[in-house]
Amino acid sequence: MTEKTKKMADSFIFNTYAREPVTFVRGSGCRLWDDRGKEYLDFVAGIAVCNLGHCPENLSKVICEQSKKLVHVSNLYYTEPQVELAKELIERSFADRVFFCNSGAEANEAALKLARKYSNDRYGPGRFHVISMKNSFHGRTLATLSATGQEKVQKGFEPLVEGFSWVPFDSVEAVEEAMTDKTCAVIVEPIQGEGGVRIPSSGYLRDLKTLCEERDVLLIFDEVQVGMGRTGWLFAHECEGVTPHIMTLAKALANGLPIGAMLAIERVAQAFVPGSHATTFGGTPLVTAVALETLKTIANPEFLEQVRKRGDYLLAKLRSLANRYDFVKEVRGRGLMVGMELTVEAQPVIRRCLEQGIVLNAVQGNVLRFTPPLIVEETDIDRLVSVLDDVFKELK
Ligand SMILES: *Cc1c(COP(=O)(O)O)cnc(C)c1O
Repeated sequence: MTEKTKKMADSFIFNTYAREPVTFVRGSGCRLWDDRGKEYLDFVAGIAVCNLGHCPENLSKVICEQSKKLVHVSNLYYTEPQVELAKELIERSFADRVFFCNSGAEANEAALKLARKYSNDRYGPGRFHVISMKNSFHGRTLATLSATGQEKVQKGFEPLVEGFSWVPFDSVEAVEEAMTDKTCAVIVEPIQGEGGVRIPSSGYLRDLKTLCEERDVLLIFDEVQVGMGRTGWLFAHECEGVTPHIMTLAKALANGLPIGAMLAIERVAQAFVPGSHATTFGGTPLVTAVALETLKTIANPEFLEQVRKRGDYLLAKLRSLANRYDFVKEVRGRGLMVGMELTVEAQPVIRRCLEQGIVLNAVQGNVLRFTPPLIVEETDIDRLVSVLDDVFKELK
């Protein structure tokens, strides 16, 4: 890495990220190159964002062509890519309407506002409480960090937005106990990402839905990380045969261009009327054109089938590696959303892997998280496992 980039970043940019000592300048498929020309295999994919890999040709083409046609006009007007993306999302999901924004936090913010508005319209003021899960992650705006069940995200920013309570993940009973006549929504990740790649018991999401329906409480699935093919399903909840009332998307939706989306069923969507909610950049022609191409590529059943196969391969390889090291507690995952929980700190492993040309990251301090581009090859996985084996040997 050129010291210069690091020095400039350290003096000019807010000190909010603990960055690894590398400056990437180029990417292609599952590969990245740093400013010295060193090649890396990417098992982070911009945190489950570049699901089609870096700079895929079809997306570069759309970016180039749309950037010459129309980039932005504002939501005061109609644009074609935005409605085409909306139609495609709706045809491929439970939802009837979509609101476009620019990030995961914004999508969740919109979902929380919609839930409050829906409840307010039906029941009057006061019914605005939202139940979320411990160890969840929903974003960094004031409302979404209030929803986030992690003290480290909230500390120093109190008072939190009123009305949130956090219950253990994977317990329908806990949600039922926390529900009051003031509850308007439950927000949950179908698989917790930042919380440590935690997969709930089968039936959990379905039972939550039943409970919510009984009380006209809205069920919000935060699919910001696990949506868009990550689990081998276009949306992670499809695997459980259950649909929410509201769903949020972002990260991989345009493969790296900033976009978020909040989708809902018609009855709920009706609560938003002109003036209820808005954002300047939401759903610009450029990002929605790219998202449309991304969505069409990922939603192909053969593509998703391949993700499940590669995911099974990764899981099997990591599990057989895990068997040989007693500091590996568990390997868990679905599709290409995989976590390896260690009994030791993950950071030294990440640093050693980076030196060996493997880009990895961790959540909760001790869970290695594997979210490669969905186009990852078996040989890439073999390379990862061989490097991890070497690094683990040193650690032993
Ligand atoms: C990343 C993430 C968010 C926040 O998205 P941003 O685009 O960083 O605002 C929200 N929910 C989940 C589940 C995420 O993984």
